[in-house]
Amino acid sequence: MRKPIIVGNWKMNKTIAEAVEFIKAVDPVCHDQATYGVGTSFLALQDSVKNAKNLIVAAENCHFEDSGAFTGEVSVPMLQEIGVKYCIIGHSERRQMFGDTDETVNKKAKRLIAANITPIVCIGESEAQYDAGETEAVIRSQLSGSLADLCPNCVKNLVIAYEPIWAIGTGKSATKEDAQKCCHIVRDQIEKMYGKEAADAVRVQYGGSVKPENIVEYMACPDIDGALIGGASLKADSFTDIINKTK
Ligand code: PGA
Repeated sequence: MRKPIIVGNWKMNKTIAEAVEFIKAVDPVCHDQATYGVGTSFLALQDSVKNAKNLIVAAENCHFEDSGAFTGEVSVPMLQEIGVKYCIIGHSERRQMFGDTDETVNKKAKRLIAANITPIVCIGESEAQYDAGETEAVIRSQLSGSLADLCPNCVKNLVIAYEPIWAIGTGKSATKEDAQKCCHIVRDQIEKMYGKEAADAVRVQYGGSVKPENIVEYMACPDIDGALIGGASLKADSFTDIINKTK
């Protein structure tokens, strides 16, 4: 049985004080039916980790090198030192604005796995690719690049977030049928690359305008094991609603 995992991606939102305030409000509401967590800015990670007993805390990026002349970057050992256990990598905003590629995502995944930090690997097609009927090809190609040369046992512990770019922050969420179909393609591609055991174990999230009003229908889909949530994760009330609806 795969344990569902629902993670808020705060992006460049919340000061340290705001992050801690949210965590104090939401942490006690978490229950065992699923893993819940938040992705915070690098600055808010340490205090978030200290205050979260039930919520997991994720970084939103990392560098694949351990140290060196990479101005403004944060390495995996730095995350490890403060007890971070999850890291979002390859989010479409990072791919579009900050030069992440399947190749760098792959390097980051390898470094995180070596540090026992679970990567949440994001993939998803653009609106133009969706309109051109290229969704399946894009999913398969992003996965084969981003997850190249990992050990099958490591793949079992990964989280993959399928997020169609046209659904992110737009309010235009994918239908549950489309989301299920694409998450199934994700699992099928993992089976092709790493076998059935890995494919059955890996957790696949849907992301893109997930909110309290639609979380239940996504969670009812057989290949959807959770969600990566931007806008609706920013308010304690709305994230609490999501936690209560997924009991
Ligand atoms: P959204 O963002 O829920 O605001 O669409 C999702 C994401 O970027 O992970």
